[in-house]
Amino acid sequence: MSRKQYAVIGLGRFGTSIARKLHEAGQEVLGIDLDEVRVEDAEPYITHGLIADSTDEKALTSIGITNFDCVIVAIGDDIQASILTVMLLKNLGMKKIIAKAVGKRHGQVLEAIGTSWIIYPERDMGERVANQLLSPNMLNYIELSKDYNIEEIMIPSRMAGKNLRELDIRAKYNVSVIAILRDGEIIVSPSPDELLQIEDILVTIGNRKDLAKFSNLE
Ligand code: ADP
Repeated sequence: MSRKQYAVIGLGRFGTSIARKLHEAGQEVLGIDLDEVRVEDAEPYITHGLIADSTDEKALTSIGITNFDCVIVAIGDDIQASILTVMLLKNLGMKKIIAKAVGKRHGQVLEAIGTSWIIYPERDMGERVANQLLSPNMLNYIELSKDYNIEEIMIPSRMAGKNLRELDIRAKYNVSVIAILRDGEIIVSPSPDELLQIEDILVTIGNRKDLAKFSNLE
């Protein structure tokens, strides 16, 4: 993966965990916070730290914020500061802005001013937990659209020892298998003759309802 430059504004729990994960993946991460202690605490997990107020246009221009590939505005409680920051970034011409919203109204304003991706951490996590409870074999998922997902689904043990051709998953469940995850390895576009093994995880694509049925098989 190419090395990209990210700026994370607001080093609370949410901002710091994004910064840390990106940094661990070898990306360049500038962490910004008003609070000196927050910057110090995050320092081991970021490439550079900066104490600054993101609602101060001069502070943003002096660090060349528009040269970053992506800015993540992880300010939560101070809704005004979050909105002002996104507005300033937009005015400076920043294209990729991700922002955390603490509630619906906050999210609506962020959307109206052109935030590329709005994250509702608590709502989204709640949905993930509910989905996990509803489909215990589903380990991870990506929402492709309103109706379609990519999901990682643990196979029921009775499918082990059979190949994809005889299981005929596409015809029976209307779900396509695009890869198999096995012992940390990935088998992309598996052959129909591939024998499934116990604890295989299928990476599947399909309609959410069909995937829900498939991931609930015993
Ligand atoms: P979390 O719930 O993820 O812990 P918080 O809302 O507690 O998030 O943390 C947001 C962080 O954003 C705080 O560390 C706060 O100091 C920082 N912050 C708030 N306003 C600004 C601002 N204008 N400029 C930079 N950092 C800010």
